[in-house]
Amino acid sequence: MYDLIGKVALVTGAGRGIGQAIAARLAQEGAAVVVSDIDGGRAEQVAAEISASGADAMGWLADVTRADQIDAMTSAALARFGKIDILINNAGINLIKPMLTMTEAEWDRLFDLNLKSYWMCARAIAPQMVARGQGGKIINAASKAGKTPSRYAPIGAYSTSKHGVIGFTRSLAMELAPSRINVNCFCPGIVDTDMWEQIDREAAAIAGRPAGSLREQALSDIPLGRVDTPAGVAKLVAFLASAESDYMTGQSVNLTGGLEMH
Ligand code: NAD
Repeated sequence: MYDLIGKVALVTGAGRGIGQAIAARLAQEGAAVVVSDIDGGRAEQVAAEISASGADAMGWLADVTRADQIDAMTSAALARFGKIDILINNAGINLIKPMLTMTEAEWDRLFDLNLKSYWMCARAIAPQMVARGQGGKIINAASKAGKTPSRYAPIGAYSTSKHGVIGFTRSLAMELAPSRINVNCFCPGIVDTDMWEQIDREAAAIAGRPAGSLREQALSDIPLGRVDTPAGVAKLVAFLASAESDYMTGQSVNLTGGLEMH
């Protein structure tokens, strides 16, 4: 549906969840894919599954909070495929804790991954897009929480970091527009992954409620009446990675079943 034949995509945090679904979908659309994750075993496994379906994929272990590991990942991807057309900054973590009770180390760890790593990956990978003069796509994982703080769970620092991702997306879009590199982000609401399972379990425990109660509460607020799947998010990302979205840049696109409308 979205023709990505001849393109090379690199997806961070692609060992499971939304990143895994994005890697699989981009491969299905014809792209060669670098499946990167801090869990090298999962990255290799996902790459093997994609390769088994007939696409070209390589797994790579990288902690994207480390500049040296980002450089090694970029060099390996360029050595194998010769270029990277599409960067998906997807790796992220959550911390279910009121901000005023967080330690400085917890704050730094969250921001190092959720925001700083997006800049470091773009800094490592975008220059070869600029040099080749063929344009490119950078797509960042933001969140509904990047627009409106959660009323379901104490995830203020996460929400703050995702507001930062939206600002970073707009600023980088401005900087890279002359090189025809589109920079956009996706803002999911609730997606069935290990991360949301963690939010549901830990926030319910803090509130003294049974696990699953948050999900029930959120579900009743979602106009479309269901949470999303990782494959659902991957549909939007495939569009943003394709030529079909060439006139879009600096956008933060909601995918929330109507929960967020701004
Ligand atoms: P997940 O926790 O299921 O998967 C995250 C992946 O990132 C894992 O494979 C993990 O190993 C990897 N990772 C963690 N630390 C890393 C590091 N330092 N370097 C490289 N990889 C690392 O998460 P998910 O639910 O699939 O979320 C993916 C993205 O979407 C995140 O940025 C998240 O904030 C965002 N998001 C998720 C939801 C949701 O409801 N699940 C909603 C909005 C936004």
